[in-house]
Amino acid sequence: MSLLHRTSKLFIVFSLVILSSNAIAEHETVASTGQYDDSNPFARILVKTLKADIVFENKHAIAFHDIAPKAAVHVLVIPKGEYRSMVDFSTQASDDEIVALVRALGETAKKMGVSDSGFKLIANAGHDANQTVPHLHFHLLGGEKLECISVD
Ligand code: AMP
Repeated sequence: MSLLHRTSKLFIVFSLVILSSNAIAEHETVASTGQYDDSNPFARILVKTLKADIVFENKHAIAFHDIAPKAAVHVLVIPKGEYRSMVDFSTQASDDEIVALVRALGETAKKMGVSDSGFKLIANAGHDANQTVPHLHFHLLGGEKLECISVD
């Protein structure tokens, strides 16, 4: 086997290992508490080292399209501050930040044209809820009839 052949074989195996480890990492869940990890994708979107399709922004919050939409409208609304989940946001965020995030949720629903037709807000926190990105985010889902989740 030529050196070129062997090198390209090694390259293919290496690429497959990288691709499969990324696929696993994408679905890894995270804890809802603990130190903030400023290398998470939403932290990178906030410092603009990672691109996002931003649909709304105010002083303390931004909203952008989910990279893997689960509904016709699937936007993520996040605080600009460093909060892993609702646990630290609810205890450590200032009143201004809390108001700005709630306003951003309503404004984003309006902007996406779902405030009349209806929408769902979901904020996963921690392992049991399958949170995968350790920065507080609300999924705003709508634009179609969504599956009903009964909570009674
Ligand atoms: P969760 O499982 O509640 O933590 O949701 C994380 C969400 O972030 C998933 O719906 C992902 O598709 C989405 N996501 C991950 N990385 C990005 C990114 N760079 N831009 C937009 N959405 C992302």
